[in-house]
Amino acid sequence: MTENRSSSTGPQPAESPASAAVVGCGVIGAAWAARFRLHGVSVKAYDPSPEAERIVDEVAANAVAAWEDLGLPARLAPIEFCDSIEAAVADVELVQESVPEVLTLKQSTLATIDNATSADALIGSSTSGLLCTEMAADLAHPERLVVAHPFNPVYLLPLVEVVGGKATAAATIERAMSVYRGLGMKPLHIKVEIDAHIADRLLEAVWRESLWLVNDGVATTEEIDDAIRYGFGLRWAQMGLFETYRIAGGEGGFGHFIRQFGPALSWPWTKLMDVPDLTDELVDRLESQSDEQSGAYSVRELERIRDRNLAAMMRALEENQWGAGQTVAEMRDRLGG
Ligand code: NAD
Repeated sequence: MTENRSSSTGPQPAESPASAAVVGCGVIGAAWAARFRLHGVSVKAYDPSPEAERIVDEVAANAVAAWEDLGLPARLAPIEFCDSIEAAVADVELVQESVPEVLTLKQSTLATIDNATSADALIGSSTSGLLCTEMAADLAHPERLVVAHPFNPVYLLPLVEVVGGKATAAATIERAMSVYRGLGMKPLHIKVEIDAHIADRLLEAVWRESLWLVNDGVATTEEIDDAIRYGFGLRWAQMGLFETYRIAGGEGGFGHFIRQFGPALSWPWTKLMDVPDLTDELVDRLESQSDEQSGAYSVRELERIRDRNLAAMMRALEENQWGAGQTVAEMRDRLGG
């Protein structure tokens, strides 16, 4: 079985950077650092939190274990902690910004990065939903900024949504696609700038409906998770939505499917755009149900369970030469293992 949909355009450029900086080393920045280092890219890091080095070390240990599960060589290039953004970004090819999701903080942090790094460095922002154009407001060189939105755990999941702003140069997008490909990722160029890009817009719909189901006492957090992971979640990991529904149309294909089930979308199955009020009562209910569902594990144990499962699924997809497995095969070609 061979998935050859992208090979019709021939091999695409993939060039990892010689050096990188991470600004912000929380959940996402620490995992970016691990991905860079596992690809042999040395990293400079800045984060004002006294916990940052510990988090970076713990996430790196998780990443090494995950790569061992994938059967890839799990060697970490060095990381150096710096005491200012300026020192971290002065002399690197790629700067990955992963500070908290607050527009004014993104703008000021990106402006500091922009002033301190060489004009030809690429700057990627991990923002889950802010617009590149708005974040670039204070930059002298907005042409080299892209949104590069990853997925947790960044050292394992290949997708990165690449979005330019009004001032982003076409050459920057091309370069970003090549750089993130060189880091073993599947960069998806999103051509229209919208809040939350593609993936989080989709997830928000599922998230909103799930909160309603708990709010209305229809289901617990565990029942909702079971409805996902025993069924359509498994399908989505390998074919997504449209290809899955094409099959659901049987021999009549997608046309048959959409003519039959499309009208159901206007039935009152969903809560549409309403969002439940996050009252104290709803928050307490969500928290206690989640504790009952998963409280027996620490967050580090849950991360390892998640990573082992993901690595096993990605290896199976690699064997079938399909979807996310192709990025693993490409990394194996490049890195050995
Ligand atoms: P986080 O709170 O875990 O980490 C943010 C880090 O930034 C903290 O370590 C904090 O000390 C540091 N920080 C604060 N101010 C700073 C400054 N001025 N300079 C440098 N570092 C500073 O947050 P996170 O979940 O890692 O999110 C970071 C970014 O990644 C956000 O834009 C978020 O939308 C995006 N993102 C998050 C996820 C996710 O699942 N958590 C997924 C994709 C993208």
